[in-house]
Amino acid sequence: MGLDNFTAQKRASGGGAAGGLPTTTANGRARTMFSRGRQINKTFNNIKITILCGFVTILVLRGTIGIGNLGSSDADAVNKNLIEETNRVLKEIRSDNDPDDPADLDINPNATYTLGPKISNWDQERKVWLSQNPEFPNSVNGKPRILLLTGSPPNPCDNSIGDHYLLKGIKNKIDYCRIHGIEIVYNMAHLDKELAGYWAKLPMIRRLMLSHPEIEWIWWLDSDAMFTDMVFQIPLSKYDKHNLVIHGYPDLLFDQKSWIALNTGSFLFRNCQWSLDLLDAWAPMGPKGPIREEAGKILTANLKGRPAFEADDQSALIYLLLSQKDQWMDKVYIENQYYLHGYWAGLVDRYEEMIEKYHPGLGDERWPFVTHFVGCKPCGSYGDYPVERCLRSMERAFNFADNQVLKLYGFGHRGLLSPKIKRIRNETVTPLEYVDQFDIRRPVHGNSGSRS
Ligand code: UDP
Ligand code: MN
Repeated sequence: MGLDNFTAQKRASGGGAAGGLPTTTANGRARTMFSRGRQINKTFNNIKITILCGFVTILVLRGTIGIGNLGSSDADAVNKNLIEETNRVLKEIRSDNDPDDPADLDINPNATYTLGPKISNWDQERKVWLSQNPEFPNSVNGKPRILLLTGSPPNPCDNSIGDHYLLKGIKNKIDYCRIHGIEIVYNMAHLDKELAGYWAKLPMIRRLMLSHPEIEWIWWLDSDAMFTDMVFQIPLSKYDKHNLVIHGYPDLLFDQKSWIALNTGSFLFRNCQWSLDLLDAWAPMGPKGPIREEAGKILTANLKGRPAFEADDQSALIYLLLSQKDQWMDKVYIENQYYLHGYWAGLVDRYEEMIEKYHPGLGDERWPFVTHFVGCKPCGSYGDYPVERCLRSMERAFNFADNQVLKLYGFGHRGLLSPKIKRIRNETVTPLEYVDQFDIRRPVHGNSGSRS
């Protein structure tokens, strides 16, 4: 998995303005928060819970295998079987082998790889479809229809805590989308075997464009990115004349040719011919194996700061836009007025300060729209940062965001590191008064995005 290790470094120093990396790790910090007395209390509680669990286990075993069989060696055997069976199933679903799979077709390294049959008149076809299907308009209440696409590998994470954070990541996205009337798709399939890993988004974006002509914008968001401003909305009217919106810095791109000038963890594509063409031009470095390896060398040779590793989607897009600037750039909007992607280090430690000084709806460094855990690899084994620091930071980001959701219902987390919640208001006013006071869909703080 050396590959994962390299890609973890990808974008790790990205995000530009998000600030430097704090060097201390979070190790042990959570523990010091408890006083000694509470620690003893906790230990005592743990013992009580353990005894209770043991008692319940005995009851269950009595019920299932009968009292006569309750020798400790039998219980051990049951446990051992269970563990072995779990491991067997895990091994099976983690392995890439599929007995029904046809032999891998070698792809011809001389032919340019394509995402599918060339489509050349999509704008016209889509226009006709929209006129024939008025029940599926591409805008609702004057707002262009957006579909948020995210996803993760088909197999379980290397560590179960990774799956827990994937779950928190999708819960966070579902909440944002529900609040703002955005459709959401979670993809776990590799539509194209060649484009596994971070390249998997390309074929899926193309498919969704073609299968959903009513969608105006497809928004890719990495699984390791979370919405941290539940009020902010993408200022779509700003992009009327553009087809790709991506977070980045033009000077890093054109002056420095930096491999972290743009971040492909969060970007929007308009559903149009231009986007299909860009995807076609972007994909050829993607096929895994020799093509991806060789392309990686070209990217490392041409992009500033890029370590030597196989071609990744972000570097490939940067390289494409640099080498074919005239062809594409007039339709690309490089956004950095707010955090369409916000690099986590430098943001997650400032939440208390933000809560004290600002409010949701700003989307920028005062209250970041998206916090992206670049380099943490919560679902893999090799990240760039200590696992503890990543998990702690993800937990803080999740709770910071979730507080904005729970507030709607009169609740909040006890702290930014606590899964437990508390009531934040009593039910003393009439129900509809809550709605008027707390509904974040009608922000009281003025329009999102304004830097007032
Ligand atoms: N991903 C996917 N399928 C896969 C592997 C990755 O859809 O098989 C997605 C996932 O959403 C992940 C993203 O690709 O967040 C990019 O990878 P990662 O976030 O690990 O890269 P980083 O942002 O750290 O550079
Ligand atoms: Mn990511």
